[in-house]
Amino acid sequence: TVELRFLFGDQLNIQHSWFADVNTACLYVMAEMPSELAYVRHHHQKISAFFAAMRAFSADLKAAGHRVLYLDLNQCDGKNTLVEVLHPIIEQYQPESLLFQEVDEFRLQQHIERIQAKAKLNVGIVESEHYFLPKQELSKYFSPGKHKKMEFFYRALRKRFDILMCDGGPEGERWNFDSDNRKKLAKKDIPDIPEPLVFENDVNDIADLLETHKVKTIGAAKSKIDWPVNREQSLRLLHWFCQYCLPNFGRFQDAMTGQSEHSWSLYHSRLSFSLNCKLLSPDEVIKVAIQQYRDREEIDLAQLEGFVRQILGWREFVRGIYWTNMPGYKQSNFLASDRKLPDFFWNANVDMHCLRSALQHALERSYSHHIERLMVIGNYCLLAGIDPDQVDEWYLGVYADAIEWVQLPNTRGMSQFADGGLLATKPYVASGAYMNRMSDHCRSCTFNVKKAAGEGACPLNSLYWYFLETHRERFAKNPRMTMSYKNWDAKSSENQSDILETAQQYLSSLQ
Ligand code: FAD
Repeated sequence: TVELRFLFGDQLNIQHSWFADVNTACLYVMAEMPSELAYVRHHHQKISAFFAAMRAFSADLKAAGHRVLYLDLNQCDGKNTLVEVLHPIIEQYQPESLLFQEVDEFRLQQHIERIQAKAKLNVGIVESEHYFLPKQELSKYFSPGKHKKMEFFYRALRKRFDILMCDGGPEGERWNFDSDNRKKLAKKDIPDIPEPLVFENDVNDIADLLETHKVKTIGAAKSKIDWPVNREQSLRLLHWFCQYCLPNFGRFQDAMTGQSEHSWSLYHSRLSFSLNCKLLSPDEVIKVAIQQYRDREEIDLAQLEGFVRQILGWREFVRGIYWTNMPGYKQSNFLASDRKLPDFFWNANVDMHCLRSALQHALERSYSHHIERLMVIGNYCLLAGIDPDQVDEWYLGVYADAIEWVQLPNTRGMSQFADGGLLATKPYVASGAYMNRMSDHCRSCTFNVKKAAGEGACPLNSLYWYFLETHRERFAKNPRMTMSYKNWDAKSSENQSDILETAQQYLSSLQ
């Protein structure tokens, strides 16, 4: 063996140039490393999905004629770092070089840099060949500590990669269709919600392994998991999504309902795991969606653009924010929030219907859709002033698609405003009125969404006003928040103090 090529669990990119030819002088190494299970407590289904996908990828490589050394958790037992995993392999094979694909997490980059500094062989890093923007070009778009508007970044990428462009302008003559989208689901829409395609991949052997090694996990353990774990399944999910969900993607992107057993996935793609493990490339996902739009009348531009925006816009954008601002980003706490994460985050045992439902989805399926993550769970944490370290830890552990580069900017930045506005232009805070507008949860909730103070009032209401009042100095001058402050200031001082007292009582009951 002349060259070792190491692959992490989120580097399952069969379209990478490494795999274009079979080279018997190369040995591919993959490992179920204990260190990857220990940096945060992961959802049981998240680990199962990663290990199942890694195993399937290794089998595919072998079937294509590549040489692969796959170490399962038993074989990695007692090897607590990447160095400890690699050392005996290097001793055995005496390679001239060790290559990595560029990693997506700061933590892993540090490991590799340590190896580069100490190893007695050549250690190299090649591009991951996955994102639209190569890593070294991020600095053309982002500057450390500087706010960047997603909309302009997205438009620049649309132009640069010639996606949905027409004569130099946006196709349909508009960049943004948000105002046509984001409808609530009416009663008549509920029966049409498609039954989600799930894969029921058997992960019993992985569950046994996790038990043998006493791996500490969160969430429901399942012997069959929903997530696609190989390229064939990922492509199937992509086409299924385009067939059944894309025609309504933008329209119901922000909707929530408790009235359907499919309420956990609605019209969302659930492609995040496949994308983040690189089983699918963002480019091919967008191309397939655009082709479907061109071929099928029932998909209008607003739906397609909404989807393209998430992948070309938001996904590339949060990656830029991450790499430009790490490692300091992980420590940011602009609002000095320090309350402990309530215990019900681990069992969904909470009376608020909206929150219970979103937490149940997360704990039972290792998935909740974007608006549950942002406007239900995230909104609650932000209003309740939960310590962002604890919020991050929960998000990073619970979702199968959670990898730090994408989880951290979304959680700390977009959802908790802990970065002081590097990513968002205002905190995403909402009272019960928002929940009532976008969902049917309030109708069957213990709390009264119309009430802000006293017994039975929806906690989101008092917490919302309390948040505004507490952070008045920071936000009163923000043009996107002046309306909210006007509404607050229009209340009588008696009403205000009732509301603030209700919020304080609620917050002290959390401790
Ligand atoms: P869809 O709604 O179908 O969207 C299509 C794709 O667009 C997604 O698969 C994803 O790749 C991309 N996308 C959409 N929104 C975003 C976004 N804000 N940032 C990056 N990509 C986006 N996404 C993760 O992949 N991993 C995470 O750990 C993660 N944590 C989040 C935490 C919070 C607090 C919030 C508000 C969002 C988080 N997101 C995360 C972004 C988004 O919620 C998920 O990508 C999405 O819910 C995944 O489900 P889906 O594939 O059905 O997405």
